[in-house]
Amino acid sequence: MTAPDKLTGSLTRSPWTPSRDEWAETLGDVPAYRLDQLWHGLYEEGSAPPDISTLPKSMRADIGRRFQAALRPVAEQRSADGNTIKWLWETVDGSRVETVLMHYDRRSTVCISSQAGCAMDCGFCATGQAGFKRHLSVGEILEQVVAARRSCRNDSADRDDDAAGSGPSRRLSNVVFMGMGEPFANYDRVLTATRRLMVDFGLGARHITISTVGLVPQMNRFADEGLQVGLALSLHAANDTLRNDLVPINRKHSIADLIDACRRYRERTGRRVSIEWAMIDGVNDRDSDADELIGVARDARAHVNLIPLNPTPGWPTVGSPTQRIERFAARLRSADVNVTVRRNRGTDIDAACGQLAGSRSTTEPGAGPTTVELRPRR
Ligand code: SAH
Repeated sequence: MTAPDKLTGSLTRSPWTPSRDEWAETLGDVPAYRLDQLWHGLYEEGSAPPDISTLPKSMRADIGRRFQAALRPVAEQRSADGNTIKWLWETVDGSRVETVLMHYDRRSTVCISSQAGCAMDCGFCATGQAGFKRHLSVGEILEQVVAARRSCRNDSADRDDDAAGSGPSRRLSNVVFMGMGEPFANYDRVLTATRRLMVDFGLGARHITISTVGLVPQMNRFADEGLQVGLALSLHAANDTLRNDLVPINRKHSIADLIDACRRYRERTGRRVSIEWAMIDGVNDRDSDADELIGVARDARAHVNLIPLNPTPGWPTVGSPTQRIERFAARLRSADVNVTVRRNRGTDIDAACGQLAGSRSTTEPGAGPTTVELRPRR
């Protein structure tokens, strides 16, 4: 086994960590088509080196000794309708991370984790409740996308047999950094992974979204990277007193600073930031909250995504009732703020926003969702 990665503590070297140039250097003196075959295997087939059958056996074995997949599947769960799939992974050092794939009519989106756990301590978020373990490496971030792509492809192949290509598409079209962790706290690796998603996975910047709790220096830095990646800001409160309480990092980066960062992002990239707002019953769903949000959204030149708060074990408050969400959305709309209400996905398999806790879900297989154990629990 190779030495632990200095920055992440990851114990393996994932074959998806090196760039193509770095792989060329690692392979050394081999014909160029070998690199093409390796690349095709890693990125088109989503195979680990030992399974890339076009490579000679000795080469597979040699690479396989030096590079191993960093995420080991522990369990896979599917929602009752089959359109939401969640994976629980274990890293070599025993951290647990989760990934969620969501199929919609015309797109398939994977929600990936950037850290094992999270240090931001937002009380309503299951990951925050569990605390921080470590940053994920580039390979650990990308392996989640590899798994999602493979799943899309397998699903399509299955359906082609019995449904002759009918039904929604199964091509991975979007990646959102909205799983476990704060992507901008793991800035360098998230940026590298984002670039690699564009170059090696062929995803357009507009099909990638990074969601941040609001780390202002990194938001500004990201605006200058020259990428047209989507940026989502988890606001949840539009006055500092309430936000200090809900999102503790607000004590460091106030709402006024966030507004400046959003405007700057728009100026530099031409892309509007989207404000995420988890609707919490009686906490941030009143008319007065809507009015404050209208002011911030206008100043920030942002549009707004409303998400009903999902229940988590460590937080007593519940999500707003549908009627209140509709009323809130209507109030924003009447003030010309662009607003969407996000559908709740994956609640039956604990795969909805903020529910990723890295431990096994309490959902049992049976009536609705299905769980496949991929490895015995330790
Ligand atoms: N740390 C990043 C990304 C991960 S969380 C961020 O804060 O943006 C992804 C989104 O889910 C964030 O908007 C987060 O605030 C939201 N979220 C967390 N817990 C939630 C919950 N219980 N219900 C609904 N949304 C939640």
